[in-house]
Amino acid sequence: MEQQLPAASSGSPQTVGSAEGTGTVDSDRGCVKCGYNVRGLPFKANCPECGTPVIQSLRGILLQFADPTYIKEILTGTSWVLNGILVSIVLAILGGLLGLGAAFVAPNLASGTILLSSFVSLAVGIWIFLGYLKLTTPDPQFTGTERPDSARQVVRVAAIASIVISALQLLVGGISISAGSVPGGLLGILGSVLGFASLIAFAVQFFATMNYMMWMAGRFPDMWIYRRAKTYRWLLPVLGTVGVIVLVGPLIALILYWNLLDRVRKHLKAITATGEPAVLPDMMG
Ligand SMILES: [Zn+2]
Repeated sequence: MEQQLPAASSGSPQTVGSAEGTGTVDSDRGCVKCGYNVRGLPFKANCPECGTPVIQSLRGILLQFADPTYIKEILTGTSWVLNGILVSIVLAILGGLLGLGAAFVAPNLASGTILLSSFVSLAVGIWIFLGYLKLTTPDPQFTGTERPDSARQVVRVAAIASIVISALQLLVGGISISAGSVPGGLLGILGSVLGFASLIAFAVQFFATMNYMMWMAGRFPDMWIYRRAKTYRWLLPVLGTVGVIVLVGPLIALILYWNLLDRVRKHLKAITATGEPAVLPDMMG
């Protein structure tokens, strides 16, 4: 299990040069600030692109040594996703109550209410989407070495697909309502295709996010996050599907997901405030 973590020691200065202080960087390594390959430069030099001391880029993969601008970006992203999820839960409850109320009191207002709540939930969806984009901001020091199919990239592509599909669904829904919704027509087929596509995008984004969390766990390092994310790859889909039988399954899945991301936020906040990850239970075991 430990082997799958990016080893915290892999980036220690001993592995990138011979003699401390006099040596040069003997392997490919991106500048922590701008991503410039500092290979061949003396330890004492500054990055020729941005002036950051080379030594700062040799401390390894721990997030506490990453560029503060990068940390701030992924912290903001994590907060947007977490707060967006909370707001969408409140909206879902409110929307349900409003829809019910409208159906009883003024049935002719019900479709308008549904359309309005669709627009509001799209707005929150865009907020969460932007959160995922920030959360998966590329770390400058890995720009040269990252694989194009990394979990980080997959999260981004799936998030973009999700938001485009949501907008199309709203468009098709709006046309259906104004056209008097003819079931089984072209709009109906389009709606089903979009529904299926959104499910695929959601699943891809979920699995990629869990893989991304496992990668990030090694950068705190926090084994609890690593083990949870690994387990959640099968546990949360089970809770979200089979768990429907006991009704609260999807809700429990959402709470577990939220708590995992919240733990990531705690570490990022602590790094921003103190320069070190938070001290939380079960980090090493
Ligand atoms: Zn630089």
